[in-house]
Amino acid sequence: QQHLVWFRHDLRLRDNPALSAACIDNEAEVIALWCVTPEQWTQHNVSARQLNYQYDALGILQQDLKERGIPLVIINTPTYKTLEKEFMQLCEKHKIDKVFYNYQYEINERQRDQQIEALCHQQDIVCQGFTDSTLFSPGSVLTGQGKMYHVFTPFSRAVLKKLSTEEIECSALPHQRKHPSAVKSSTLPNFSTKAGEYDTKRFPVGHDAALTRLREFSKNGVEGYAEQRDLPAEDDTSRLSAALAIGLLSAKQCVKRILADHPHALEQAGGAATWVNELIWRDFYRHLLVAEPQLCRYQPFQTWTDHIRWQNNKQHFSAWCEGNTGFPIVDAGMRQLNQTGWMHNRLRMVCASFLVKDLLVDWRWGERYFSEQLIDGDLAANNGGWQWAASTGTDAAPYFRIFNPTRQGERFDPKGAFIRQWLPELEEVPEKNIHEPWLWADKQNKKLDYSRPIVEHRQAREATLQAFEQARKYR
Ligand code: FAD
Repeated sequence: QQHLVWFRHDLRLRDNPALSAACIDNEAEVIALWCVTPEQWTQHNVSARQLNYQYDALGILQQDLKERGIPLVIINTPTYKTLEKEFMQLCEKHKIDKVFYNYQYEINERQRDQQIEALCHQQDIVCQGFTDSTLFSPGSVLTGQGKMYHVFTPFSRAVLKKLSTEEIECSALPHQRKHPSAVKSSTLPNFSTKAGEYDTKRFPVGHDAALTRLREFSKNGVEGYAEQRDLPAEDDTSRLSAALAIGLLSAKQCVKRILADHPHALEQAGGAATWVNELIWRDFYRHLLVAEPQLCRYQPFQTWTDHIRWQNNKQHFSAWCEGNTGFPIVDAGMRQLNQTGWMHNRLRMVCASFLVKDLLVDWRWGERYFSEQLIDGDLAANNGGWQWAASTGTDAAPYFRIFNPTRQGERFDPKGAFIRQWLPELEEVPEKNIHEPWLWADKQNKKLDYSRPIVEHRQAREATLQAFEQARKYR
């Protein structure tokens, strides 16, 4: 028997159901596959940082697999369409009987899989897909009417119930193969770039490093999570999103680890419970993507919001991208994103809200920009977050709730410690003026090397309310 395991966003050996299934029959020869699809990645706005992160993780994975007698071969082809032929040629060359892979839920990936399954079927090759990236399979957490939840809280309750009644099972780590494959591992084509450099200390590379970070966070970090998670200066969240996005870890491993260290996390409020709830948000958006595939096509969940007349001012958009809006908390968040490929969750909410509701720029511009920058870019979470902030999504912030960016700064970065970290030009501004530095500069007759606010929040808010109210007529 010749087995092919097709790796995607599941770059780990532990709790990898496709890999485990491929390795159960110890007589079988197992070959692993990874597909480099540069044009497809560009079409999907994958960031250079995420590509570098994947490249580094693949190097480690290739070595780990090799030690178990499994070569990692590469197909390098522009798109999913061009992949089809090369995939079938590879199956023919290695006389593959069975293909194993973990599901991906985005629309192009699902179409790719259907296409390849059909081609395999013609050649009598058996394909087996597995759930690995969510706690529960999309479609398995439904309302009493058998529909996907459109509101998070009852979805979360249903997931918690399942977690407390069903054992979380993680797949076994595969052993050394009895018959190591004689196929040679491919040399990894170098798709990492200078633009994709990232801080390897902040983002654990490889699944062992990600597991170590998870264990450390569960033991020492999660306790204070409920209180600290909204304060960007504290930097106390897990920072595991990049590892979860490319599957160095599974969500199941995360919950299992938390429950081992905090056995009451499902019943009692606190840091561990709050963190599990965030992982449930992650599941929610993935389940939603499957139930509402139009979300992958940048369509709003609330269709009436397509009637909003966006201003789409390009200068405003550039100022936002560059972190030069004159609103310190927004600019600090955007500069953190541009310089590190990651942004604190509270600031993602503030920056997204500012783009949509202060600048009246189409949320899809922001979604795309985030994707192009984020090391943890993930269609479901990014789209979910943007549609939440823009009030176009399911269970989104109501359209009339508009963050005041200055008040958000005062509330979540009261001393301005985070702002100072990212806006050195505000160094001399006193603590009490840090959220409105232009007022202080005017009073002192000083010229700051920092933009004045590009909009007046109250006026912008009124314009946004009007735009949404006009569009609501189409409900
Ligand atoms: P922690 O606070 O430690 O949370 C643990 C894990 O839970 C995260 O790693 C993540 O996998 C998951 N999670 C946490 N919050 C959310 C959430 N609101 N929605 C879905 N999953 C969540 N997250 C991404 O992984 N990729 C994205 O592309 C992405 N884009 C976003 C865009 C916007 C506009 C907003 C508001 C949020 C976005 N998020 C995204 C969600 C969230 O901001 C990040 O997951 C979080 O900041 C990552 O940091 P962490 O790993 O320290 O999270």
